[in-house]
Amino acid sequence: MAGFSTDGILLKRIDYGDHDLIVTFFTVSMGRISVMAKNAKKSVKRFAGALEPFSAMNLECTWPKRKNTLPILNNVELSNPFSKIRTNTAKTGYACYWLELVNAWMEEGKAQAGLYELLYYVLAALDTGTMEKEILSLLFQIRFMNLSGFTPDLTCCGSCSTPLDEIRQQRITFDFAEGQLVCGRCGKKAMRRHAITVSKGTLKQLFWINNSDLQRAERLRFSPCTVREGEALLEAFIPCHIGREVKSLTFLRRIREVA
Ligand SMILES: [Zn+2]
Repeated sequence: MAGFSTDGILLKRIDYGDHDLIVTFFTVSMGRISVMAKNAKKSVKRFAGALEPFSAMNLECTWPKRKNTLPILNNVELSNPFSKIRTNTAKTGYACYWLELVNAWMEEGKAQAGLYELLYYVLAALDTGTMEKEILSLLFQIRFMNLSGFTPDLTCCGSCSTPLDEIRQQRITFDFAEGQLVCGRCGKKAMRRHAITVSKGTLKQLFWINNSDLQRAERLRFSPCTVREGEALLEAFIPCHIGREVKSLTFLRRIREVA
């Protein structure tokens, strides 16, 4: 029977009846796909306990015999369980947020190799602790927007095109509804209800992590203020752009409050 094999990261799993699971992966060759894991709920041994969120694995599936049914997951080979994420509440909070964005925004069945590489990179760095989780999250979000084609222009006023360096104010308004920066002059023209202000320095650093080599990102140093501003901007803009509530953000914010 015809089938396929690909590497994937487990995004989510839901119960299906008493014995089975429907598992959603973000895969290298097919993008986001959901498959049926028969007896996975009944017997943990069936997939050797590999079907956990964030885990990276190679999966082997069979195409279904009937239309409108899911491929059947036959076998998995775990390549990285990212187990240090799962045992740390704060790390889990960040990883859940990234996975929810990928699951919410990516089209079913459309390969996005660059995004797969990015997700794998941030999960691996989060797991090993080579980079701060807050900075990884800024890196993931800004590059996620870039790869999805909706990065706002952070280099000039979206209304009159004045470059950032020529704008007199040190703090610049970002309008969420329009998805753009607005200089002081243009900002006076309208009352902006759904907007925040961000310092020039933060905007420049976000621009930089969007455009620099991924490997060089490990050497980045951000001030606590930049991290806070970057988080506030990106965590408000992305859900606003994709047009849905991102539930894991509530969990992430609660973790930050107690930290
Ligand atoms: Zn302007």
